[in-house]
Amino acid sequence: MNYIKIESSSLSNGVGWRVVLWCAGCENHCEGCHNQETWDPNAGKPFTEKELHLLCKLLVYPYIQGITITGGDPLFPGNREEVGKITKTIKELFPTKDIWLYTGYKYEDVKDLEALKYTDVCVDGRFVQELRDVSLAFRGSSNQRIIDVQNSKDEVKVLDLD
Ligand code: SF4
Repeated sequence: MNYIKIESSSLSNGVGWRVVLWCAGCENHCEGCHNQETWDPNAGKPFTEKELHLLCKLLVYPYIQGITITGGDPLFPGNREEVGKITKTIKELFPTKDIWLYTGYKYEDVKDLEALKYTDVCVDGRFVQELRDVSLAFRGSSNQRIIDVQNSKDEVKVLDLD
């Protein structure tokens, strides 16, 4: 998997101060996407053990609430195995930090992937220009949901953070 960048602390990609990993690769190609440079899975640089170590070092800081994995799409088929490993490692090493994951796929279509086992919050769905709403918290269009993954075993539980 390639990644575009790692942010050491951000307030705009989920609740609280967060480390953010921007993955390369997205096949959704939503009209109006602001991150088209992330579509190419070969953009950016390879994600290696060195980057995983960096994420762990950044997560140690007490003011950091967790990590957000976005893109691109972390669940682009070529990213799924690596993102599964990243989320597993982080959840095992930092059980009190939360993991947010953004994907253009519908949650119901990806919920059984390894990465979702360790994800606390999934923001799902394509960006839809006609449903764009700048007042929404942590998402661009009103079809996208902020899902409480660990409490969505039987039915999808959506968080209202607006
Ligand atoms: S899923 Fe995200 S990165 Fe991919 S095209 Fe849609 S808005 Fe852009």
